[in-house]
Amino acid sequence: MEHLDIVVVGAGLSGIGAGYRILTELPESTFAILEGRERIGGTWDLFRYPGVRSDSDMHTLGFPFRPWTGKASIAPGEEIRQYIEDTARETGVLEKIRFRTKVVAADWRAAECRWIVTVEDEQGRHDISAQHLYLCSGYYDYERGHDPQIPGIDDFAGEVVHPQFWPEDLDVSGKRVVVIGSGATAVTLVPALAKDADQVTMLQRSPTWMVALPSVDPVSTRLRRVPGKGADLARWWNVATSSAFYEFCRRAPRAAARVLHKGLARGFDQAAIDDHFTPRYKPWDQRLCVVPNGDLFKAVQRGHASIVTDTIETVTPTGIRLSSGEELAADVIVTATGLRMLPAGGARMTMDGSPIDLGNRFVYRGMLISGVPNLALCVGYTNASWTLRADLSSRYLCRLLRHMREHGYTSFVPVAPEGLTEKPLLGLDAGYILRAQGEFPKQGGADPWVMRQSYVPDRRTALRADVTDAMEFGTTPVRPGSPVAVGG
Ligand SMILES: Cc1cc2nc3c(=O)[nH]c(=O)nc-3n(C[C@H](O)[C@H](O)[C@H](O)COP(=O)(O)OP(=O)(O)OC[C@H]3O[C@@H](n4cnc5c(N)ncnc54)[C@H](O)[C@@H]3O)c2cc1C
Repeated sequence: MEHLDIVVVGAGLSGIGAGYRILTELPESTFAILEGRERIGGTWDLFRYPGVRSDSDMHTLGFPFRPWTGKASIAPGEEIRQYIEDTARETGVLEKIRFRTKVVAADWRAAECRWIVTVEDEQGRHDISAQHLYLCSGYYDYERGHDPQIPGIDDFAGEVVHPQFWPEDLDVSGKRVVVIGSGATAVTLVPALAKDADQVTMLQRSPTWMVALPSVDPVSTRLRRVPGKGADLARWWNVATSSAFYEFCRRAPRAAARVLHKGLARGFDQAAIDDHFTPRYKPWDQRLCVVPNGDLFKAVQRGHASIVTDTIETVTPTGIRLSSGEELAADVIVTATGLRMLPAGGARMTMDGSPIDLGNRFVYRGMLISGVPNLALCVGYTNASWTLRADLSSRYLCRLLRHMREHGYTSFVPVAPEGLTEKPLLGLDAGYILRAQGEFPKQGGADPWVMRQSYVPDRRTALRADVTDAMEFGTTPVRPGSPVAVGG
């Protein structure tokens, strides 16, 4: 059986970043990136709906070791995918990726001090042995979106489309489209579809906080021109402004609501603001939706799109009947109703054959799991660009593995103290997060068990914190031969 020092799962932003850090900081390690799809990019390969784009700036969503050089700060999905692929090619990470290789299970064998990783690829189902397993598999199900069970949807005579599986040949010209949802996907789709469709309606059960931002940020553009450190300056500028606005929203939600409403005041009357742009929750209780160049607002003001805030009574063959009695005629219904969260990329995770109950464990520094040896996961921020945190996780893991090598250790396991305060992993109230909370590990009330949403202290931790804190190390020799059969 093949044995590797590290198996990385997933070739999205996180997996490519992890590959780069392993190549540069642990050059003597053998590793592979196992990717279920046939292309690089993860999220940025899967989502192909019209207008798909980032909703955080590319100066921080891009890799710090290969800064984004595109003009737009809010960039189209295909450009992001291409950037991830170019980065993998330029850094040599591409050679480490095994495409069409899906990880279906991983079993930690304590006596052998290694993971037996079961994969499905062109050769069929077989095992790979790995001393360390690094899950860069994202956080949602690639095969299924969230199905909110909309009544009557099966009777609809037109086309029903989920943004996760956008039909390449769908032509909305001259059609009436209803987009159900109010999150980033709906906010992106509505102005994009409005360019061709006869009429686009965004049907939301309740409003979302939105902010209009320029897609090309003039300050970042100017900072990038500074010789030598332009990319760093643009990155830090975006870190500083986005975290300052986040803190403002959390500490002074009423003032933040006024600022966000002020951005809308020129284009909408007070009734529209109250009905469609005043959420029931405080700014940043859920992710703030970015509206690049105010495109959604412009589409509504020009009459190309409309927003309806109501609940669905039932879908009919010709449209949607609302609780208010109103009927929305439709030829196409887009269910932008969200993601289905999925831990460990759907792989069955076990230790000596017994299931690892992630929901009953704690995260350590937001990336290791209490009681589970030689396993790390890569999770980004919810209130800032994913890559900021993902890259710190990879750097911390490399530092931990270097420490182990220097001291002759073969395994690590984070040990949570008794009575640790329990908190949900991600501090957002978004439906898709709340629905899956029990399947993901929790965070504790104190370091190293806290999952912060704050780049500056996290950076300090990733680069300098004591890697031995609340950690037990082992010296059991790694057995790279054939596995010893276990039950389960
Ligand atoms: C539409 C959309 C827009 C977004 N916009 C932003 C944004 O602007 N800013 C931001 O910060 N975040 C954004 N996000 C969050 C986004 O997911 C992250 O930015 C980032 O792309 C996550 O990267 P990742 O590599 O961790 O995961 P993913 O991009 O999900 O990649 C995971 C990879 O792992 C592979 N994989 C999963 N399971 C397995 C398995 N069992 N075996 C083998 N391979 C497997 C997948 O095929 C995939 O290629 C957005 C998310 C969505 C859905």
